[in-house]
Amino acid sequence: MSWKLLSTLERLLLPNACIACGQAVERRRPDALICTVCIARLAPLVGGCDRCRQPLPPVGPCRFCAEWTASMAWVRSAVWLGEEARAIVHHLKYDGYVALGPDIARVVARHVTPRYPACLIPIPLGHRRLKRRGYNQAEILARALGELWDVPVVPGVLRRLRETGPQTSLDAAAREANVAGAFRASRCPPDVRWSASRSGAKQASVILVDDVLTTGATMSAAAQALLEGGWPEIGAVTFARALPYSAKAVAA
Ligand SMILES: [Zn+2]
Ligand SMILES: [Zn+2]
Repeated sequence: MSWKLLSTLERLLLPNACIACGQAVERRRPDALICTVCIARLAPLVGGCDRCRQPLPPVGPCRFCAEWTASMAWVRSAVWLGEEARAIVHHLKYDGYVALGPDIARVVARHVTPRYPACLIPIPLGHRRLKRRGYNQAEILARALGELWDVPVVPGVLRRLRETGPQTSLDAAAREANVAGAFRASRCPPDVRWSASRSGAKQASVILVDDVLTTGATMSAAAQALLEGGWPEIGAVTFARALPYSAKAVAA
């Protein structure tokens, strides 16, 4: 019996368990790591602020993106960080499930249409974290998205100058201070400028990619570094976004 036949048989007899709920994935999708029920439960971001898609306050402009650097033109996240999205991100980040890249990228591509993408730039990890994890989850996602969107991925552009420590326990202002000046970007190569000008002046976006957006402080610091490196319009895409407080209370 050939190995190929054996592995086909194995998949039929032992389908993958969904990494979010533990149920077997459908037999017609033997290589999928997330079941269709969990994918259907992912809640997309709809409407909201033109720039960042966060729900707008009852009065006045969006407060979520007000403090970000002006060089970041737009930010999109595919889904809210609910239970299923959290499980998916956890497996990608801490359990070595790099094979999740294409599944996650398909979810992103379903909900996010990039504006004139010139290239994708994953948010880098610091040296120590990268060494410990062995891979950068943002780069895994960027590469899978690059395949779907047919856009080049340029991972070496941004460097993290220092580890910024865990962000989770900090409030928004502290996070901003924590990541300010944490990145440096290499100079924008002429061909990116060229494709930027060819597709309509100032229309091409270099797109930062990360798994989760919490306050956007990290994205904003990275966008600022790109601006200083002479890169054109900067956009950003993440798979998930931390729930706003009101939604969190509803979901709990
Ligand atoms: Zn599931
Ligand atoms: Zn906004």
